[in-house]
Amino acid sequence: MSEAQVVTRFAPSPTGHLHVGGARTALFNWALARSLGGRFLLRIEDTDQARSSEEATRGILEDLAWLGIEWDEGPTLTLPDGRSLGGDPRGVGPFFQSERRAGYDAAVQALLDRDLAYPAFETGDELDALRREAREQKRNFRYRRPADFDREAALARAAGGEEHVVRFRMPERALRFADQILGEVHFEEEQLDDFVVRKRDGFPTYHLAVVVDDEAMGVSHVLRGQEHLNNTPRHRALQEALGYREPVYAHLPVIFNADGSKMSKRDKDKAARSAVKEGLASDEARLRAQVGDAVDPGSLERWLGDKKSQLPDSQLGALQEALALDLPGIEVEDFRRGGYLPEVLVNFLALLGWSPGEKEDDGRDKERFEPAYLAERFHLERVGRGNARFDRKKLLAFNQETLAALDDAHFLSLWDAWCTRYAPKAGGRLGARAELFAAAIKPRSGTLADPTDPAGPGAFVFAANEAFPFDEKAVAKFLRKGEPNGLEQLAAFRETVAGLDPFAPDTIEAAASAFAEARGIGMGKIAQPLRVAVTGSSASPGLGETLALVGREAVLARIDRCLRECA
Ligand code: GLU
Repeated sequence: MSEAQVVTRFAPSPTGHLHVGGARTALFNWALARSLGGRFLLRIEDTDQARSSEEATRGILEDLAWLGIEWDEGPTLTLPDGRSLGGDPRGVGPFFQSERRAGYDAAVQALLDRDLAYPAFETGDELDALRREAREQKRNFRYRRPADFDREAALARAAGGEEHVVRFRMPERALRFADQILGEVHFEEEQLDDFVVRKRDGFPTYHLAVVVDDEAMGVSHVLRGQEHLNNTPRHRALQEALGYREPVYAHLPVIFNADGSKMSKRDKDKAARSAVKEGLASDEARLRAQVGDAVDPGSLERWLGDKKSQLPDSQLGALQEALALDLPGIEVEDFRRGGYLPEVLVNFLALLGWSPGEKEDDGRDKERFEPAYLAERFHLERVGRGNARFDRKKLLAFNQETLAALDDAHFLSLWDAWCTRYAPKAGGRLGARAELFAAAIKPRSGTLADPTDPAGPGAFVFAANEAFPFDEKAVAKFLRKGEPNGLEQLAAFRETVAGLDPFAPDTIEAAASAFAEARGIGMGKIAQPLRVAVTGSSASPGLGETLALVGREAVLARIDRCLRECA
């Protein structure tokens, strides 16, 4: 392996779905590797056995692949098109930390042998007491090796099988390191302690595993979120103690919501909690029935009572579904389900901290680009230090713009794929009308979920003839006003509808305009009453498309209902 080889990595812990912050980290690592001609590797940090799952790992791999963030090395995944991602061409795997125990044990042993680490025997209760004592004395608790520590005795106790952790002897001095985004970062000696490198159960801690693996895998650049900044002095000290190379460090800006709060998975719990509380207050029995077996009553009470608590992803998802809650998207899957295109999400995520520093012809900052542009242009110099704002309106505008620019066939195929995954019933019901539907609804859709949204621009197509509401204002304006009024025009046009063959957009348009001409009225005088009768409101796609989409039988039924109910 050459010294100069650039290797970046994304190292998720498989404890839940991939959220957008993690996706941004993965994206920047991918883009840096691409722009520098290096390799991007994926490592699964599953040393926390209780919280890790294979299901979460699979979800993360699939989400990354969907986004097009393709890794060169790591766990293998076969894509729908038959290509395969991952693999181990340099022989640095396995890529699951749970399979790399021997390397961690060897590193811990090397530290123990050189008196750079030591066994410590305090129980949880004893540590709590030390913490309490520190609090009472108004100082921060930091574990440091006692002055009278007896190394021989401690090693003998550990060798004898006594339960212990292994702690690293953190150098007793301030530590600094260079960060490519933040500049020089400085930690005082008082902020550092002898942290644990091997837990009681024999597993390494995150700190040890990450340092050993980054070295073994030849990682040259560590890009990660700023929540890891406090970990870096520990990692630097371990690298020095073990004689490892120092990777380039860069900590990415924190992502904030529009309201200034830090974006986190908790936001979903927060929104769900207040919706559930509202529901309980208005109709407790109904809500409890709806929640049913999504969440067991005990966990629900605990979660409701503790503002900081979080439900596991699967339970929160079940709750969201049972109550049809509209929760803020946080996970990549939320945006996929929400009908966002992967390249749009990637474009948007790239702007969370990075900017190309180029202008459009109209003088505005360049914001819209393809993944290939990012892969070519990405550099750490253009990553800001300031917080990044997750502007949902901007994301939606990007998506809408992109959808509108697609040709009809492309939109239809994307929408079709989305329906297969998320709305198989709605998509399937359209049959031969699907093409027409996609073309008519495309310009009115912000997302691929909009066409089938019950409140969306295509809802009139799926509505039950007898059930959709009529917009009162539209009824007054277009059906009841004038002489003859819209209802009378409708009644007269009904016959034309019944006899029209074929019942297609152009024949419908032609019939309506002939009707208007024969009666000496403007086209709007028949088009608007028809729209209200058939969709409930006066805003819809073109008249011919609208009626053709609803279909002759349904149009007749809706006209009859309208004549009955709106008279
Ligand atoms: N496994 C860590 C996490 O999921 C990331 C470790 C790192 O990037 O150093 O937060």
